[in-house]
Amino acid sequence: MEFLKAIGLPHGADKGVINAAKEQASQLQEALYAAKDTIGAQKDRIASLVEQAKALEVRISQREEYVLEPIGPGAFAYIRKAAHDAQKKGPWLCQPCFDDGKQSVLQFSKTDWHRDAYKCPRCEAILWVPNNNEMRAQTASLTRGRFDDF
Ligand SMILES: [Zn+2]
Repeated sequence: MEFLKAIGLPHGADKGVINAAKEQASQLQEALYAAKDTIGAQKDRIASLVEQAKALEVRISQREEYVLEPIGPGAFAYIRKAAHDAQKKGPWLCQPCFDDGKQSVLQFSKTDWHRDAYKCPRCEAILWVPNNNEMRAQTASLTRGRFDDF
């Protein structure tokens, strides 16, 4: 009775019409459930996107704290702006890793004449930075003359 009244059919309506109306109501119910599922999936997607947006905002604010500076001929690294002068000697963050969203501090690897090698522990990039090491000619006193063996 309530159903017939709800769908606008008079009491005593034809059974075929009633069954057709029930079938339509059942299909509408299924469509409603499907729509609710879609809405639920979209809510999950929105929540995921909001989290991604927050993570990107954090990443952007962290990125704004650094500036890309040359640390050697053809060698660039990110240096924190706040301590820019104090950190001219490091720590330096690897540029490719930083652009990839990772902070990797370049580590001293080895020294050479006039330059030091710094290596990224994450991507293994090597940057050469000038140093103050100078090549020195060393002499040794010889007790024997240079041509004594001849
Ligand atoms: Zn790296």
